[in-house]
Amino acid sequence: MYDSRNRRIHYLRISVTDRCNLRCTYCMPEEGVAIVPHASILTYEEIAELVRQGVELGIDKVRLTGGEPLLRRNIVDLVATLAAIPGLRDLAMTTNACRLAELATPLKKAGLPRLNISLDTLDPARFTQNTRGGNLQEVLAGIEAARAAGFHPIKLNCVVTESPAEPDALAVAAFGQARGLTVRYIRRMDTRQGRFWQVVGGEGGLCSACNRLRVSSDGRIFPCLFNDSSYSIRELGAREALLAAVRNKPHAGTASANRFYHMGG
Ligand code: SAM
Repeated sequence: MYDSRNRRIHYLRISVTDRCNLRCTYCMPEEGVAIVPHASILTYEEIAELVRQGVELGIDKVRLTGGEPLLRRNIVDLVATLAAIPGLRDLAMTTNACRLAELATPLKKAGLPRLNISLDTLDPARFTQNTRGGNLQEVLAGIEAARAAGFHPIKLNCVVTESPAEPDALAVAAFGQARGLTVRYIRRMDTRQGRFWQVVGGEGGLCSACNRLRVSSDGRIFPCLFNDSSYSIRELGAREALLAAVRNKPHAGTASANRFYHMGG
């Protein structure tokens, strides 16, 4: 699929849940968030049908995200279903790794080849503070389990305030280098104020090269993280929602009420 700016749109980021076990200060408001009612959440059948329709239209890359995707019940089954769809060249997941120690091997066996893991600091106290209660040890155990399970590549997503030269980011870089893990730096963004930057070491954040659509857990396709327009899969059907999102993809992001935890980052 090509949009009005001749950008090839072939990447679908699917938020499988808006629930998360962390409360990262830059992602969620302190008071928590209203949870999307269960009946509104796309079923696995609906997600699989969306991906099948997407592949027919030229989608060849899918990322599962959240909320925290590993909190969705039977996530391994969804991975197995998607991994078996012919024409899907690339399947990935972005996770905080808290549940990876138990799920890394089943996910790998189900056909997930690679992972992005969020890691902003190696300081246990700062991790707990930044995530409002998270436990760094769980994440580190999850990363080791992912390595042992043979995921390749494993990329670390490191959110920075200003630059990759910050002490926490340098520590994450050294940690990654020692283990052969790629590190990508994401400067803290603000959807509401329309503040966003290119990902250092990744492909996100550059509007002229944007190739993606986002699917919220309640089945709306958002052509842009920094724009409020969306197209409902349940109202329009998967195919038409995908086509409408591509047709109406903004040339560049501006600002929106969308939030990272809802849109999968
Ligand atoms: N729970 C999963 C995780 O932690 O990776 C997946 C969802 S999370 C919303 C996806 C990515 O968005 C994470 O790497 C997170 O660091 C990033 N993110 C969240 N809020 C952000 C913000 N305000 N600016 C930049 N990145 C952000």
